[in-house]
Amino acid sequence: MPELPEVETVRRGLIPAMDGQVITKAHVNRPDLRWKFPENMADRLSGKTVLGLRRRSKYILADLSSGETAIIHLGMSGRMMVSGVQLGEFYVDHPVAQKHDHVKLELGNGAQVVFNDARRFGHIDMAATPDVETHWLIKDIGPEPLGNQFDDAYLIDKLKTRMSPIKTALLDQKLVAGLGNIYVCEVLHRAGIAPTRKAAKISAKRVASLVPIIRDVLQEAIEAGGSSLRDYRQADGELGYFQHSFRVYDQEDNPCRTENCNGTISRIVQSGRSTFYCAQCQR
Ligand SMILES: [Zn+2]
Repeated sequence: MPELPEVETVRRGLIPAMDGQVITKAHVNRPDLRWKFPENMADRLSGKTVLGLRRRSKYILADLSSGETAIIHLGMSGRMMVSGVQLGEFYVDHPVAQKHDHVKLELGNGAQVVFNDARRFGHIDMAATPDVETHWLIKDIGPEPLGNQFDDAYLIDKLKTRMSPIKTALLDQKLVAGLGNIYVCEVLHRAGIAPTRKAAKISAKRVASLVPIIRDVLQEAIEAGGSSLRDYRQADGELGYFQHSFRVYDQEDNPCRTENCNGTISRIVQSGRSTFYCAQCQR
């Protein structure tokens, strides 16, 4: 499932194809994905210029000249494919319609952007641009981890009464936006905090240390995604799923990579999801 850095990479990959371009024609090939598409979606997209592409948590927001914003979520398996012209730093080709191409946008510059989603957990909705922050999918999402609202004081305050394990707390999208299973495992390993520790029992100093670590881990992943756009020209034009090496995620039984630690990465299950950590250096 794409997490915040992957979604940000998709957004950046779409900019050369879409930003400032008119959507000459939108094709909507089915009535729904995870939820029903908004009424007349093809008409509401067609003929509109894309004024900008933003991101909020794991949603890509395409602001249109009509005063509406398309709210795009990739779900579990959603992919954006760009084809038609060589755009910016990357070169892609997706000429033949595939089975799960659900929405296709033709753009004024000759590019085509296809939303392909085999498992259909993705979604596209539309709202008036000023109403996006209060849209039902977005209104309860916590602050952006790379934004100014997310700081030591905020995190200390939010965690001081939480009796859940720190890993579960950090996965709560109301606490902080866009952090998923992979990056929470990486963050806790770098912070040396055991994923099973009760959030409220962790000292304020250690909680504060999480803020720059969360930013670093996400920023490094975004940079890796950016280099994948430049260096790895995928033949099918698929954006956003790149090889990224994780220190703990999916590293069960491998040696811990923390300096001077001779531990081994273990896997446990918390709230139904795998947690990878080092029992030796995470306390
Ligand atoms: Zn270790």
